[in-house]
Amino acid sequence: MTMKYRCMSKIADKLKQVQDNIATACERAHRNPDHIRLVIVSKTAPLESIIEVIRLGHTDFGENRVQHLKQVAASVDAFLDENKDDPDIPDKVNWHMIGHLQRNKVRQVLKISSTIHSVDTLRLAEEVSSSAGKEEIRTNVLLQVNCSGEPQKYGVPVGAAVHLAEQIVGMPNLNLIGLMTMAPLTRDKDVVRACFVRVREIFEDIHNEGVVTNKFRQLSMGMSQDYEIAVEEGATILRIGSAVFT
Ligand SMILES: *Cc1c(COP(=O)(O)O)cnc(C)c1O
Repeated sequence: MTMKYRCMSKIADKLKQVQDNIATACERAHRNPDHIRLVIVSKTAPLESIIEVIRLGHTDFGENRVQHLKQVAASVDAFLDENKDDPDIPDKVNWHMIGHLQRNKVRQVLKISSTIHSVDTLRLAEEVSSSAGKEEIRTNVLLQVNCSGEPQKYGVPVGAAVHLAEQIVGMPNLNLIGLMTMAPLTRDKDVVRACFVRVREIFEDIHNEGVVTNKFRQLSMGMSQDYEIAVEEGATILRIGSAVFT
């Protein structure tokens, strides 16, 4: 074992393991790994760990709480600014809002995040659209679907998803780029897979309705526990935290 290998950080190792697993799942599913984007969920990670991930070349990060999003994005911005002459450090990173969003916090999120994964009601979509209008931007949104039907879960019910997607497509300051879902926390892989399949079918239904634009391409599904299944069922965005940071 070389010195270099032994000194490789735990985070670099874990990230590589995740990427290897994604590649293997892609082989099984006859998919191209280039078509899968990894959003690193930083919510529990210390700043040094996030910076390490940035140094490894990642520029997509996810946060599920507005307060923490603001703090961590400010810290990362300060780091990027201090290192703007370093060719190995990117000029900016993309922040994805992946958690439940209250309407009174939308404006704050739009100042930081380019993509909101958790739009799940008409009222929230309208708020995001009108706030984006005030900021004079168009923002990317995904419609969050409650694939498991568990009442405590956020997300539009499966049966109402196509209709809500049609309504969102008509809003002036939103790009509806896809669907997001969270599988139930269970070790039963069949239950998880059925959930992802259901959301992929809704995705196809929405496509077949012909109301969406060609920006509607993303399936944000798969977390540390279940990302390989998600890849097999067509995920294009994986949201992974603990598999990298713990
Ligand atoms: C925390 C979180 C994730 C990442 O979960 P891990 O199990 O840590 O990979 C993904 N999506 C959402 C919405 C989350 O809140």
